[in-house]
Order: sequence, then C-alpha cells, then structure tokens
Amino acid sequence: MNTVFDTHSMIAGQWFEGSGDSFESWDPSLNKAIANIKSCTLLDVNAALSAAVEAKTLLDTKTSAEIAEFLNVLADEIEALKGAFIPVAMAETGLPEARLQGETGRTCGQIRAFAALVAEGSWRQASIDTADPNRQPVPKPDVRAMNISLGPIAVFGASNFPFAFGTLGGDSAAALAAGNPIIVKGHPSHPLTSRYFAQAIANALQKADFPMGTFSLLQGCGTELGSELVKHPEIKAVGFTGSLGGGRALMDIAAKRAEPIPVYAEMGSINPVFIMPEALDSRSDAIAQGLAGSIAMGCGQFCTSPGLIVCLNSELPKLLAHYLSEQTPGVMLNPGIADAMQSALASRQNNSRVEFLTGGLSDTPLTPKASLMQINAADFLASGQSIAEYSEEIFGPASLVVNCESTEQMLAVAKSLSGNLTATIHADDYQSQSLSALLSLLKPRTGRILFNGFPTGVEVCQSMQHGGPYPASSFAHATSVGTAAISRFVSRNAYQNWPDELLPVELQNDNPMGILRMIDNHYSRTAIAIEKA
Ligand code: NAP
Repeated sequence: MNTVFDTHSMIAGQWFEGSGDSFESWDPSLNKAIANIKSCTLLDVNAALSAAVEAKTLLDTKTSAEIAEFLNVLADEIEALKGAFIPVAMAETGLPEARLQGETGRTCGQIRAFAALVAEGSWRQASIDTADPNRQPVPKPDVRAMNISLGPIAVFGASNFPFAFGTLGGDSAAALAAGNPIIVKGHPSHPLTSRYFAQAIANALQKADFPMGTFSLLQGCGTELGSELVKHPEIKAVGFTGSLGGGRALMDIAAKRAEPIPVYAEMGSINPVFIMPEALDSRSDAIAQGLAGSIAMGCGQFCTSPGLIVCLNSELPKLLAHYLSEQTPGVMLNPGIADAMQSALASRQNNSRVEFLTGGLSDTPLTPKASLMQINAADFLASGQSIAEYSEEIFGPASLVVNCESTEQMLAVAKSLSGNLTATIHADDYQSQSLSALLSLLKPRTGRILFNGFPTGVEVCQSMQHGGPYPASSFAHATSVGTAAISRFVSRNAYQNWPDELLPVELQNDNPMGILRMIDNHYSRTAIAIEKA
C-alpha cells in the first residue's frame, strides 16, 4: 500500500490528489496557510462509490465477530498514530494538546464500544414469530426479522471535533459497525489531520482482511463535492455534523433525489438554561461561575454551548459578566467561523434592545474575548422575527441573558423556542407548578434535559440522546452520540418460512450467539425448541 503522505485523498487504500480547485489548510493560531490541497470531483465520487459497492458484497459475508475484531484493530491503529496526528491537529484547529488527547481517547473508546455492541449482537433487534400451521382460518407462517446493513454511507464531519466527529468519528463508527462502506467528505478545516485517520483505517482493513473499498476519504472545499456525493444513487444515507445551513442544504438535495434518502444531520443549538427563582436566590454565584466556564469552554465552539440564559431580573447577569471577563480567550477553529461570530455580534450590537455586559466586537477575531449580552423578556418576545434572530446560534464564546419579570414570562420564552440539543434547568423545588409547566414545554423541544448542571460535555453511552427536534437535528428520535447511533444506518429484512440453515445465525433456532430476541412477543435469549414448520 502506498503510504506516502504527499497527496491528500484516498480511495480504497490508494492515496491520490483531487483534480479540482485548490484550498488551503490554515493554522488559526499563527493565522497562516500551512498546505495546499486539491478538491476531489465527481469523477472521484464515482470511483469511490464503485469501490464501495464492490466492497459491500464482501462486507456482507463478514460475521459479527469479524466486524468487531476489525473495529478493535481500527481503534488500535488510531492510537498507534496519535503521536503523529495530535501536533498536526493542534496546528490545524488551534485546540490544545490535552483536549486532543482526550478526544483521541473518546474516538477510540466509541469505536471499541461499537465493537462490543456488534459482538454482543442484540443491536440486530432480532424478532421471531413462530409458525402455527393449525391457525384458523389460515395457517400462520414463520416470520423472522433483523437489522442488516444499508449500503454505502456518506459522512460529513464537523470542524470542532476533528477526531470524535471527524473522519472516523461517531457517524463513521456507527456506519462501519452496521457493516456499511463509508465515503467521508473531509472537512476543509483539518485536511492534514484527516489523512492520518484514512491511513489508520487502511491499515486496519488490510490487517483484518476486509475489502479496501470499505473506506474512501474525499477532500474538498466548497459545496460541490458534498452535493455530488449526496446525489450519487449508490449512497443510501448521510451522517452530517455541522451548521444548520449545511445540514439543511444536504437534506434538501437528498429529498430531491429520484430515490430520496435520509440525512441524519446534527446541527446548531442554543441550549437554553433556565434558572428557577429559588435556585437563583440560593446559589447565583455558583451558577454564574459554572456558566462562565461552560460558555468559554473550547472557545464556545461546542454544539452544546449555553447560548441563552433565562431567569428573573437579578444580579446574575453582572456576576456572569464578571466571571466571563476573567476567562482566558481561546482560539477559533478557522477564519470563517471567527468572521461568522463577529458578524453575529455586530448584528446584536446594532440592535438597541440588546445590551452588551462584556466582550463585543474583537480586534483579534481568531482569539475573541467572551461576550455576554442581555435583553428584557418583553423585547425578546416582542415579535416572531426577533425571537428567530435572538434564537440563532452564535458559534463561539457568547451568550444572551433574557431577564424576566415573572416565571410566566420564563415559560413564554420556553414556549417561543424551537428544537434544541439540550436544555438545562437549575431548580431546588421539584414540586413547583412552574417547574412542571417548564418541563412540559421543554420535553417536545429538546433532545437532552439536564438538572443543576451545565450542558457542555456529552457522555458517550447507550442512553445518550444527542439530537433533538429540528433545527437541532433532522430526526428527533436519532442520536449521533452513543451506540444507539447504529440504528440510523441499518435496513431490515423479514425472512418468511426460511430453512433454518439458510437464516442468518442471529435468527436460527438454536441462537448460537445467545442474543436477546423477541420471540412470539416476549424477549428471550433461549433457543427455540420446536422445529420450524
Ligand atoms: P459546516 O460549515 O456546516 O460544514 C460541515 C461539512 O459540511 C463540511 O465538510 C462542509 O464542506 C459541508 N457543507 C456545508 N454546507 C454544505 C452544502 N451546502 N453543501 C455541501 N456540503 C456542505 O460546519 P462546521 O464547519 O463544523 O461549522 C460549525 C457549525 O457546526 C456550527 O454552527 C455548530 O453549531 C455546528 N456543529 C454542530 C454539532 C452538533 O452536534 N449538532 C457539532 C459540531 C458543530 P465545505 O466547507 O467544503 O462546504
């Protein structure tokens, strides 16, 4: 295998350079270009899909144990390269080493979690309805069903998690675990970093004797490459993490295809924090300190960053402004994101209803100070158009406090919100009617609701729901974090009156993998004693 890193894209284990326009890898800390990369084109999309379709036939012959083993080898290969890719990612993203060390652990941890899930087997959701030849008026057939792979998946990673939501991040791991080939559209914010992950998976595919066409990395900048990828008829679903504009554009393209496909998009969110009156009275200072850390964490470049704080009129905004002004500025991921933050702040500064308490427009947009704004609830609620403006995510260290006259006004603000990844409540009185009303309003508007904490930091576990109603994500029931994410990239077959030996092992009578199955409406790991009709 050619492992020379002088080209940037990979199809089925072969490195090459795209034949499209050039773009630059940018170091945001030094504010200078560090490499030139050429974008891939439709020709490359076609080649990657040909390889993926061929690979799919072979992948379908792999057992669960073999897929689990491949995923474990993949995690090992990534870890083996971390000494090389962490400095590159530090240069391309401005993220500190400790954060990237942690993200490497998370990325390998989630791949290994998928390996364990696949080896265990219950993710297949095997279901068996045994035959009843004596049923009247017609005999009942034997029908069995389980989840199977779907087909080539297109993956779009985000700029802010170059590993955990990057080339081999959660979407890629979930799609591979379900037995799908993947084509990754590399994020133009960290193209050099992406190459190491492509090399890691090429090494793992070779070691595990898996088809090399299981993976391709197409680097590119601009909307054309991604659009062509989503339009390709062999792509069966899309995993996307990024902006609302990008996610929505890809959803629209997918819906217009002759064969529409799902785009599982995780997009922006303002993650409202509601501070109930008794919590405000008893621990304003601690809440303000915690919020300041959460807003400034990672230079505010988290999809779970708290962008809206809702409370009664109080000293909290001043306290929070004080703690925010003490935070050390971080580095924005790239000049585009830095500029977007500045123009969002400029629009708020031109709005007479919004008051800045700290921060504001920066002379150094790539290392901005954190901003805190405030607005009266009456102004926030004044018109639908304003609400939409104030509810738009500012990606970066910035947040808006909505000062309310009453808990009724706090509820009105909650009612005005659209879908969010998270909502946080600080409360002590769990029996209050206001809390109950707030929960009723937030549940249909939110993926994850937290009590007495801060929304940044997403646990990777089976029960995590990292999604939410539109516009936070495209499917409110889907999650992009945790092993439940696998269910986005599966199809399902039913097998009627099949001979036992032709069935997938997960559905055979003696249940050789010992997986949990729904048998005649009851969950069980037992073998089926009766012979099939
Ligand atoms: P982005 O600008 O949406 O880009 C993500 C990927 O999608 C890039 O590869 C980009 O390629 C591609 N893309 C964007 N628009 C496209 C279009 N119209 N057609 C085809 N491809 C398109 O996202 P980002 O760079 O990561 O920017 C940060 C944003 O992501 C923030 O708003 C943040 O809230 C959001 N985010 C959300 C989550 C979450 O979990 N929900 C996580 C992280 C970040 P090109 O740049 O080459 O066009």
